[in-house]
Amino acid sequence: MNKMETYQVNERGFYGEFGGAYIPEILHKCVTDLQSVYREILESRDFKQEYDRLLRDYVGRPSPLYPAARLSGKYGCKIYLKREDLNHTGAHKINNTVGQILLARRLGKKRIIAETGAGQHGVATATVCALMNMQCVVYMGETDIRRQRTNVERMKMLGAEVRSVTSGNMTLKDATNEAIRDWCCHPSDTYYIIGSTVGPHPYPDLVARLQSVISEEIKKQLLEKEGRDYPDYLMACVGGGSNAAGTIYHYLNDERVKIVLAEAGGKGIESGMSAATIHLGRTGILHGSRTLVMQDEDGQIEEPYSVSAGLDYPGIGPLHAYLSRCGRARVVAVNDDQALQAAYELTRLEGIIPALESAHILGALEKMKFRPSDIVVLTVSGRGDKDLPVYLQYRKETVLSGNE
Ligand SMILES: *Cc1c(COP(=O)(O)O)cnc(C)c1O
Repeated sequence: MNKMETYQVNERGFYGEFGGAYIPEILHKCVTDLQSVYREILESRDFKQEYDRLLRDYVGRPSPLYPAARLSGKYGCKIYLKREDLNHTGAHKINNTVGQILLARRLGKKRIIAETGAGQHGVATATVCALMNMQCVVYMGETDIRRQRTNVERMKMLGAEVRSVTSGNMTLKDATNEAIRDWCCHPSDTYYIIGSTVGPHPYPDLVARLQSVISEEIKKQLLEKEGRDYPDYLMACVGGGSNAAGTIYHYLNDERVKIVLAEAGGKGIESGMSAATIHLGRTGILHGSRTLVMQDEDGQIEEPYSVSAGLDYPGIGPLHAYLSRCGRARVVAVNDDQALQAAYELTRLEGIIPALESAHILGALEKMKFRPSDIVVLTVSGRGDKDLPVYLQYRKETVLSGNE
């Protein structure tokens, strides 16, 4: 196998041993249909024109590549922030939903379903459904509905129906199960917009391609600012892996570029309260894909925990499982308190309040050893407005314990 193909999905949907499409018989036709047409559609002139136009005029791309001077001073290197937090709806997720709804329309689908955890993907999906005048049903765990009130209200205002899921932990994993169940009941008229690089083939590759606009822009922007189109380090947080996939996509075969990913350590990877799937997972099948899964001895899924609702998923995209297993990416676990502290640091140094998910990769900075000449590009996947209650609670606790 040559290098170029190493990190690309193969025709059976695998990255090494990870990936594939493990689906019930009833979904066979819609998944194989999607497999056979998605690349052709994504590469067609007509799709590209409409997608690029919406990314520019509606999402607000290109997102800035911001040289963060004070943060750079603190870590002794040159740090650029890729500002996905400035996108319409406040995160990178909209890059994917805009692309998938254009795909759904070209497939003649009438109805859109989605799963959501923190609500960011639900909002991004409800947004493009309003834009395209399509029916939208979003599955969300009852626990998350309680934790993320404003995102629920946003989805409703956008015209989506939010269906509460009360099985399991009542979080993202359970919402995904329920969305798949719905899809099985309506395979012919319904398109399932998956929110990350997870699920059966072709979703991981489809979502990575739609998010790859992030690294396409980084290349151009770095060339303009630095006279070379690659950094020494790329850094991103991973829940399912979509903002990271977009950040690294066009650099996967460039060994000059080191890749550092952060997963949610929760209260510590040894604590039993963690979502560090790459550290703790074993190979299994989750939501249609063979990947690393947090599971017990009997293969029962273990409930993940993170302060960040966008990162507490018991699986991980098959691409990222592969990149970590073959050594292409270094994956660090960043705990709740490290992420919270890093969020305050960015806010005070640069005047940018990051999403809690993004705060995890910021928390990885202090675990790194940089040289002064190093150029680092770190993706701020979203903005922190939705996380203010958690941030305020944390400040109250640290003030009370005299740490501030
Ligand atoms: C959903 C979300 C994530 C995690 O999802 P990925 O698919 O791993 O990118 C990270 N950051 C933000 C702001 C999110 O909304």
